[in-house]
Amino acid sequence: MKTLSVLGSTGSIGTQTLEIVREFPERFKVVALTAGNNLDLLVDQILEHQPEVVALADGERVGELRQRLEALEPGLRPARPPELLGGGDGLCAAAAWPTADLVVTGIVGCAGLLPTLAAIRAGKDLALANKETLIAAGPVVLPELEASGSRLLPADSEHSALFQCLQGTPWADTARLSTGVPTPGLRRIQLTASGGAFRDWDAADLVKATVADATSHPNWSMGRKITVDSATLMNKGLEVIEAHYLFGLDYDHIEIVIHPQSIIHSMVELADSSVLAQLGWPDMKLPILYCLSWPQRIDTPWPRLDLTQVGQLTFRKPDRAKYPCMELAYAAGRAGGTMPAAMNAANEEAVALFLEERIHFLAIPRLIEQVCDRHRVDLHPTPSLDDVLATDAWARRAVREAAAAPVGSVPVGLLPR
Ligand code: NDP
Repeated sequence: MKTLSVLGSTGSIGTQTLEIVREFPERFKVVALTAGNNLDLLVDQILEHQPEVVALADGERVGELRQRLEALEPGLRPARPPELLGGGDGLCAAAAWPTADLVVTGIVGCAGLLPTLAAIRAGKDLALANKETLIAAGPVVLPELEASGSRLLPADSEHSALFQCLQGTPWADTARLSTGVPTPGLRRIQLTASGGAFRDWDAADLVKATVADATSHPNWSMGRKITVDSATLMNKGLEVIEAHYLFGLDYDHIEIVIHPQSIIHSMVELADSSVLAQLGWPDMKLPILYCLSWPQRIDTPWPRLDLTQVGQLTFRKPDRAKYPCMELAYAAGRAGGTMPAAMNAANEEAVALFLEERIHFLAIPRLIEQVCDRHRVDLHPTPSLDDVLATDAWARRAVREAAAAPVGSVPVGLLPR
């Protein structure tokens, strides 16, 4: 029985993790849950999973949660009421909860950074979905992992694929995962990308892209932020940086290939030119399950891959002009230090503004580029946690200020909407 702390339990990753727990109750048990604002779903999750602790991001809503639980019919209330916590400290306490073996990081954005660090410092193994944490704070997170002995198991489907492929190589010492040192025998990584919502659009039409367009992913069902990141291909750019930190390869050896069917989840090329790939239906439950069951495999009744049903697997190079976010991410990764933190925060804010319908889709890369250009003079090459947090806060302010500027005075073009 493995015990889990599920951070972001009300989101796409969180709910899929809980589906797995429901399906394999003899193997997994939830001891801690955290959420943002979705109290309705959280109450249902508490009743079903009976965790020891629950933390809400907004500390002021803990009273409301307590009242909701107390208002339930006596027969419906949790047998043992969970400890209720709130705010950043509460999230960190749930992440470091003593009885949890593994922490699933399903919080979206850099808001996941401090809880993730709390879990690492408590020596927990992590199923890492919250990639923004590693992108923003790789130089801080990697030494912490080294010091604590925590293992980072990638839940992102592409990195799970790379992780699984590498288990058949001389690099069998999986405990080295997450140290960021070059992986022996690994020559090249190919990250596959579905191409997102605008895969089949002409670049010239993107100026008309609406929120509804950008949030309908052709292959994957995910949260809104990552779905927009897939439409800009920033998600793939973030994954390039994630792969760099996880597997220690330089950026010249991490490539992106558009693969519309999302059946091959990524590939590794080894020193002898052999290429290994991992395949499966596009379903996040598989990589999440592998994090939970690693180093074992669990027998599942899930739909089995039938390549005759898929028919064709196709590949093409990404269009760099159509997807400027991809290049911005490579550039930020190569600049290193605090630049990925600035880029990530600028992206989070720009995507939030787009989802609020305050900026055009094409303004997202323009805002990010502007912030990265401005950050160049203040870049910390070997940042501390405080440097990362300060850069994150500055970049968010910079984006909001640029977006609030009056029409005509805006250097980033298509703002405001
Ligand atoms: P969702 O938006 O679906 O869920 C986000 C979760 O985080 C929710 O539980 C939400 O709470 C909570 N949350 C939001 N803001 C805060 C905050 N400030 N503090 C604490 N908790 C907060 O996101 P996804 O599940 O799609 O993505 C989660 C992470 O996993 C992201 O980093 C994403 O890149 C990564 N990922 C996701 C994949 C997917 O298939 N969804 C695939 C690969 C990676 P509430 O809803 O209660 O407000």
